[in-house]
Amino acid sequence: MGRTLQLYQLQSIDSEIDKTNQELAGIAAKLGESEALKRAKNAVEIADKDLRKAQTAMKDLDLEVKSLTDKINNQEKKLYSGMVLNAKEAANLQDEVASLKRWHGQREESLLEAMLSVEEAEETLDQAQTALSELQAAWAAEQEQLKQTQNTLEAKRAELTERRPAVANSVDSGDLSNYEKLRSKKAGRAVAVVKDGVCQGCGMTPSNNKLQRARAGLELTYCGACGRILHVL
Ligand SMILES: [Zn+2]
Repeated sequence: MGRTLQLYQLQSIDSEIDKTNQELAGIAAKLGESEALKRAKNAVEIADKDLRKAQTAMKDLDLEVKSLTDKINNQEKKLYSGMVLNAKEAANLQDEVASLKRWHGQREESLLEAMLSVEEAEETLDQAQTALSELQAAWAAEQEQLKQTQNTLEAKRAELTERRPAVANSVDSGDLSNYEKLRSKKAGRAVAVVKDGVCQGCGMTPSNNKLQRARAGLELTYCGACGRILHVL
């Protein structure tokens, strides 16, 4: 009776170690910066650059409008200062002032548009920063949770690994080597439990003869379908 029970116990430990390792690998993959976080950081960087660009454009336009205003003032002063100008000179100067004013008007409109662009860029940056900080908070909480789970799983794995040798030593050495060979061939499961006459490793029903021998437990009985060692609970 004991022969397959010990193997079954060893299989239980090994399966649990395998499962724990899988879970730990899943956690390791989730630790670190997420793609969403990287994207949010990138969005803030882009929004910041866009804002600086918009601010520079606005400052340049502001300077241009101011210098046009100065120029217009100077020319108008000249025009109305009573400086002696002949009719042609006066007409030219008037044309120049009119042309400068038209250009000034256009540049002022552009300046207004640039100011709106700055406002929009500020809003975009603000939204991107809010999204980033929300994401960062959620991410930090998740990472903390993952690290806690990781600690728990590592402790569990250490405990299982510590228990394993005593169980493995209680198994006959020939059986143990059969078990290890089967485990590497059968996706980690060398021992299959028989429940209601059905092999839980493959879902097939072993013959009555096999079931009887498995139940007796005096020898290792293998499932005819999946090849695993049968253990009747
Ligand atoms: Zn089977």
